[in-house]
Amino acid sequence: MQKGLLIIFSGPSGVGKGTIIREIMKFPELKLTYSISMTTRAPREGEIDGVNYFFVTKESFLQHLYNDDFLEHACFVDNYYATPKAYVEKMRNEGYNVILEIETVGAKQVMNVMKDDEGCISIFLVPPSLEELERRIRGRKSESEEVIQKRIAKAELEMQETFRYKYVVCNRNIKKTVQKVYDIIHDEMQKKAMD
Ligand code: 5GP
Repeated sequence: MQKGLLIIFSGPSGVGKGTIIREIMKFPELKLTYSISMTTRAPREGEIDGVNYFFVTKESFLQHLYNDDFLEHACFVDNYYATPKAYVEKMRNEGYNVILEIETVGAKQVMNVMKDDEGCISIFLVPPSLEELERRIRGRKSESEEVIQKRIAKAELEMQETFRYKYVVCNRNIKKTVQKVYDIIHDEMQKKAMD
């Protein structure tokens, strides 16, 4: 059985990562699965524990960290986020391509531990402009003004990390972005199959 790819998918808050991932997962031939992260952030309206995230207390998060359960972890605007490693390994060993929707600090940790030939690829989604990004973050109407300001400042910092990623895709139009991401994953799967 060919081991699946590890797909790091990053981009500033509000760029549309969730939408693109939801769409791309509709293609069974890409054999994708989504790694559900653990977070200490409170659920937003409509978010479900065990679907969007595993929502945990800070104490529980730190216990998992202590137990070495995470592939990577990071603090993002006052909350902790991490990728549980057991699921990622299990699914990759079953041939699935695992998507990690993570911010840049955690992505850097994964890139540091993965060698080039270990099947890890990285995609960074950028907005057409920072003004458009701010409009999208505000449009979500789920955060306080303070958190919105912090997320916008964080977005500007994250945009400086694009050089670490193998692919940078501008999310101007959902349909076109999905096509581009589809092509990237499809090509990478073919490359891996020829190894
Ligand atoms: P949000 O609070 O908007 O759901 O997520 C905030 C940021 O944390 C987003 O950039 C998201 O991609 C990132 N994130 C979500 N899960 C993880 C994770 O497991 N690890 C890391 N490093 N970042 C994550």
